[in-house]
Amino acid sequence: MDSFTKGAREDLARLNFPPANWVPPADGPDGRPLLDVLVVGGGMCGQLAAFALMREGVRNLRCVDRAARGREGPWATYARMEILRSPKHLTGPDLGVAALTYRAWHEAKYGVAHWENLHKIARLDWVDYLLWVRDTVGLPVENDVEMKSVELHPGFVSCTVGGKAVHARKLILALGREGSGALRWPRFETFDPAQRASGAFHSQRGSGVFHSADDIDFAALKGRRVGVLGAGASAFDNAGEALESGAAEVVLFARRSHLPQVNKSKWTAFPGFQHGYAALGDARRWRFYTYIFSEQVPPPYESVLRCEKHKGFSVRFAEGWQDILPGPEVKTWKGKTRFDALIVCTGFDVNMIERPEIASIRDAIDTWRSHVPPEEAAKFPEEARFPYLGDAFQLQGKAAGLSRVHVFNWGSTMSHGALAGDIPGIQIGAERLAAGIARDLFAEDSDLHYRRLLSHNEDELKPTKYFVNLSSRRPA
Ligand SMILES: Cc1cc2nc3c(=O)[nH]c(=O)nc-3n(C[C@H](O)[C@H](O)[C@H](O)COP(=O)(O)OP(=O)(O)OC[C@H]3O[C@@H](n4cnc5c(N)ncnc54)[C@H](O)[C@@H]3O)c2cc1C
Repeated sequence: MDSFTKGAREDLARLNFPPANWVPPADGPDGRPLLDVLVVGGGMCGQLAAFALMREGVRNLRCVDRAARGREGPWATYARMEILRSPKHLTGPDLGVAALTYRAWHEAKYGVAHWENLHKIARLDWVDYLLWVRDTVGLPVENDVEMKSVELHPGFVSCTVGGKAVHARKLILALGREGSGALRWPRFETFDPAQRASGAFHSQRGSGVFHSADDIDFAALKGRRVGVLGAGASAFDNAGEALESGAAEVVLFARRSHLPQVNKSKWTAFPGFQHGYAALGDARRWRFYTYIFSEQVPPPYESVLRCEKHKGFSVRFAEGWQDILPGPEVKTWKGKTRFDALIVCTGFDVNMIERPEIASIRDAIDTWRSHVPPEEAAKFPEEARFPYLGDAFQLQGKAAGLSRVHVFNWGSTMSHGALAGDIPGIQIGAERLAAGIARDLFAEDSDLHYRRLLSHNEDELKPTKYFVNLSSRRPA
């Protein structure tokens, strides 16, 4: 083990990490020990949830991810920016342990001067860093294991995990941005996204219709003409990647007449908002986030400049796509344009009802729709679909036991602010989640804990002459 990692582990030991498990064991329906918590998703939020729980002494847990190690979430898959969008000094995955910060890792790897001169964190360094935190802390992430379904039972939740039934008292859905719903596609006149695998739209290497979250072979775009839809970060990142892979021309189409200019959610990254938002009433929370979401997020200037370096890059404003036709061909109000490949960069919808994993409980889940006036829900249909969560990210609604399921991904934003997605809020989010789960597990076992209190018999004064052996006098 390198001395830097050894030092970080020593720091964890100084913080008494990991503390002893305090949750009383319980048997599941199969007679085997019931898990206390199953975390589904081992991306940034899932692994941090596991870390925060272990730090609270909740250690009888599993954390599974269907992706291979290092391929969790967007970072090494469909995120196509060169550098992170957030500033380099952000903390979060370290849970406040200085030796586990990105800065400490970077300085150990590249030196202090390199850190000082660093503009923003390289995307793939972020992946290596997250994996290093995972290994150094000893977080039990199991890769290539998928959770397929959830069922609620009195006292526990059953999930199909890696083809087997797994029973747990609590379930954390840390399924990521995509896991809050589904890929977002604009409504086209005739094109149905399901068609994109068909021959008319996807016939040979370097041609076809893609969503930005698809696995795209950019090398095959060399010398090709590419149309990109969107005005946000992913649109510019995908355009930049295509241009750097040798695309002859990339045309970016935006519905708007100009790019969004200000990232309003950046303003929310301060402790007052992060701690206080969830305590606000429904109307005030609704007002904050419907405004933030409707303002939209500008692309980082670095992503724009990356594209502007290439002669083959152009932007067509006020020209959203009305349809995608075989070819593929784009139809806008100005006419039709043929491309070799199209990349739709319109992000993700929050619509938990779309998630196949939770099909059995979806109709019971309370959403923001029932907490705002109908005209507001009609005006902001996506915001109205966000789950209406309790104080520890737990689902609420019609089915008994729903509060055993905690949503720790982007879907929690309307209820808690951005505490389970972007880096700035995740430490506060993970700590809130873990504290709430520790509370619930304790409260549920409170009679058992009371019996444990009665039998607690640690003789403090045994080494002194004042020791009295009360236990021999207590009735059995
Ligand atoms: C392109 C892109 C760039 C971003 N850049 C930044 C940035 O620079 N700064 C910033 O602060 N934020 C950024 N974000 C936002 C956010 O930080 C990331 O989305 C981050 O990955 C969120 O972590 P997560 O754990 O919620 O989700 P993810 O990292 O997506 O992890 C979710 C995991 O759940 C797994 N999973 C899903 N369903 C199942 C299942 N049924 N069974 C098992 N496993 C499952 C997936 O395989 C995945 O690994 C970016 C987001 C995107 C999409």
